[in-house]
Amino acid sequence: MFNKILIANRGEIALRVICACKELGIRTVAIYSEADRNSLHVRFADEAICIGPPQLSQSYLNIPGVISAAEIANVDAIHPGYGLLSENANFAEVCEKCNIKFIGPTPDIIRLMGEKEKARAAMKKAGVPILPGSDGVIPSEAEAIEWARQVGFPVIVKATAGGGGRGMRIIRSEEELPNLFRAAQSEAAAAFGNGDLYMEKYVERPRHIEFQVLADEHGKVVSLGERECSIQRRHQKLLEESPSTQVTPELRERIGQILCGTLSQIGYTNAGTIEFLMDEKQNLYFIEMNTRIQVEHPVTEMVTDVDLVKSQIMIAAGARMNEVLLGPVVHRGHAIECRINAEHPEKFTPSAGKITTFHPPGGTGVRIDTAAYAEGVIPPYYDSLIAKLVVRGKDRNEAISRMSRALEMFIVEGIYTTIPLHRRILADPDFRAGKIDTTFIERFLAKNGKAKPAA
Ligand code: ADP
Repeated sequence: MFNKILIANRGEIALRVICACKELGIRTVAIYSEADRNSLHVRFADEAICIGPPQLSQSYLNIPGVISAAEIANVDAIHPGYGLLSENANFAEVCEKCNIKFIGPTPDIIRLMGEKEKARAAMKKAGVPILPGSDGVIPSEAEAIEWARQVGFPVIVKATAGGGGRGMRIIRSEEELPNLFRAAQSEAAAAFGNGDLYMEKYVERPRHIEFQVLADEHGKVVSLGERECSIQRRHQKLLEESPSTQVTPELRERIGQILCGTLSQIGYTNAGTIEFLMDEKQNLYFIEMNTRIQVEHPVTEMVTDVDLVKSQIMIAAGARMNEVLLGPVVHRGHAIECRINAEHPEKFTPSAGKITTFHPPGGTGVRIDTAAYAEGVIPPYYDSLIAKLVVRGKDRNEAISRMSRALEMFIVEGIYTTIPLHRRILADPDFRAGKIDTTFIERFLAKNGKAKPAA
């Protein structure tokens, strides 16, 4: 097992990794920017190293800086968390060259899955259903039109290097294609330094359903079932749950088997998430794979009792799946996660500043992953996620009532948060009836007017 791990991240996920290390008896090293000097990940790590000014490019994304910190602290491994360097194949490669274990898949696999149209091709070859689309990058508007004619409108163009819903446009007719294609191209180039686009058939009112897997370094892959993440605003997830009301035990088993076979064949290792869209006839289509721990991993942890971050660390240290899981994965009850963002609940604009009151809810079946605290400051430079409120109930109804009361008992003052928005989603009759898809929030906001602001 490792002696010491550096956590190349901040906020709640850095704390989450520290929790796993403490339970495994591994020493931890935090890195932090000048804006995060008073952060809890700095406080709870065994050692902490300041790696630069607040700007991401000069701190958490500065590969030489992160590697120097790892070498100074003499760590055995780096956990990248999510976002930041977690899906950066070059970073994983540099770690490897410096004899530091990168807790995640190999650089080749990260690279393959990071180029979405290549990932699509690999999955298609392995027999995983994908949506009709362009087989590779579309170089020009003329070819985009040709593809769209073949596939049939509506279509969606996406950035091959995409993430966070950027570089994506839904195109409903030939007339609007040139403008939207160019807009997606420049957005992708600005966000990812790569404007390459590919195209897929657009699925009307789909559900977003993703499967969590763990793969050891000895060829064994297991599926831990699905999460439903259909509650999204602008293609970004707001609330996730497990299981999905639409996935039968047979479907879960069948997809799990296909994925385990495919990933074992391509030599996948560590944790991963395979994202699908489900159409109205319950067909699942692969859209992308994330080669890291996901924000929403706690919902799977709540229903399976498997600690995914500890599993990642044990796998990276060479453990076999039977040592990691100690038995078959059993699903119990229903879990829901609400992402609490420091944002105005009406305007969705970021709300940085000092938290004056912070009272998190507790009680049976409630979990909070957060690095926020009273008198703490939310800096303006980073992601707006400040807490994940997760509940488990014996069934979906109990999870909904538990989440509703937990949101009511969650008091954050001094900044705006999305707590009021979540309270209204949880009270919505369609949400309660499980009538959800990725366009739910759009309709919900139109129907309800705007969510009331916090204080
Ligand atoms: P990103 O990597 O930017 O998050 P994804 O490919 O994972 O992009 O897609 C994010 C979201 O965009 C999906 O959850 C879904 O809401 C929407 N989406 C993506 N592809 C399609 C499609 N072919 N049809 C309909 N919606 C889609």
